[in-house]
Amino acid sequence: MTDTTIRRIHLPSDQDASGRNLGEAEIAAVSEAIHSGTLTSTKGRFVKALEERFASMLGVKHAFACASGSAAVHCAVAAIDPEPGDEIITTAITDMGALAPIIYQTAIPVFADVDPRTCNVTAETIAPRISERTKAIIVTHLFGNPCEMGPIVELAQSAGIPVIEDCAQAFMASYDGHPIGTLGAIGAFSLQQGKHITTGEGGLVVTDDDALARRIFLFINKAWGYGDPHPDHYFLALNYRMSELCGAVGLAQLDKLEGVARRRIELAAELDTLLRDIPGVTVPHVGPKSVHTYWKYCIRVDPEAVPEGVSGVARLLRDYDIFTVPRYIQKPAFACEIFQQRRTFGKSGFPFTLARPEALDYTPERFPGTFEALDGILVIPWNDKFTSDDVHFIADAIRTSVTTLRAGGS
Ligand SMILES: *Cc1c(COP(=O)(O)O)cnc(C)c1O
Repeated sequence: MTDTTIRRIHLPSDQDASGRNLGEAEIAAVSEAIHSGTLTSTKGRFVKALEERFASMLGVKHAFACASGSAAVHCAVAAIDPEPGDEIITTAITDMGALAPIIYQTAIPVFADVDPRTCNVTAETIAPRISERTKAIIVTHLFGNPCEMGPIVELAQSAGIPVIEDCAQAFMASYDGHPIGTLGAIGAFSLQQGKHITTGEGGLVVTDDDALARRIFLFINKAWGYGDPHPDHYFLALNYRMSELCGAVGLAQLDKLEGVARRRIELAAELDTLLRDIPGVTVPHVGPKSVHTYWKYCIRVDPEAVPEGVSGVARLLRDYDIFTVPRYIQKPAFACEIFQQRRTFGKSGFPFTLARPEALDYTPERFPGTFEALDGILVIPWNDKFTSDDVHFIADAIRTSVTTLRAGGS
């Protein structure tokens, strides 16, 4: 159906200026960086300032900027320093940039199931995957909605396993009054184009632990001991530094972060109210201790109540130029070729060749929450530059689409 009478509006997009907060402050900072003639963070001031500012915003001892969110996760895993074949428990509903670093560090990603209401791992889903080889747990605060960190941290502490928080989608979110990224041993953030704030590409890693901080710093810097009396390349590491150009943009972006998060929360509260009584539609489930900062606004659609479910709603919403993503990622990460064919280092299959068979058991029966979650979610683009009118437009379009499907229309 293409109904020419349908009202369409152009929603702000995080892929261009319509939905990004990049302006004079960023230009001035980049201009200063360029005029200084120093574009490397080893000598410049902007990346250092970005790191100090972010650490103070989160109230942590150490923050490090790096090349991407994937690099940030890689730094976190490398800081933990798993032995080949050690296991890291994580989620199958995440970005591949959160999983590839585990494999590069020759550890085995072991997938925990998720709570279908939030698509997040929980203490209950993590516990059965812990083994004598578990070296770390990586939790992803999906869409900006915090994992239930209280029970997760308790479980991890009792097992003596560090928690890494993947906060790529969860800037300024909090749990029980604590900023997300500070509840585990290490927090990793992304500054990619589509995240809350951006430097185009970039990442941030935070920790309170001095020993982990030292390893993170070294891993970003080819493990060269800058400033040591007898520096050397102490271990295997890459150049994961952020340049001063990105540092300058990032520093200016940090000034805007609180406002970005606040606005996203306000708009989400508005949409919650507008959608709540639509049959078959469930608004985001946020735990009582959590502040969700809405990287995306994700609804669940019950296919029993709404014929064709999420794909039907997504199809009808396209008529309004609202481009949603049914299922978020189309399949759980373990269904991708990298895991199924073990395409890693040449034809070796390494490090999977070192794994316990149980750690590589991807049978769907083990992941009921993961499949239920993916089948039922519809990811709605979200942006702090949306207006209240935009939110009403989205809500009306969802209501009309659901009503149409329920009436047997298309
Ligand atoms: C974006 C993202 C990453 C990777 O960040 P990049 O900057 O794209 O490398 C990792 N984890 C999650 C959950 C993400 O959303």
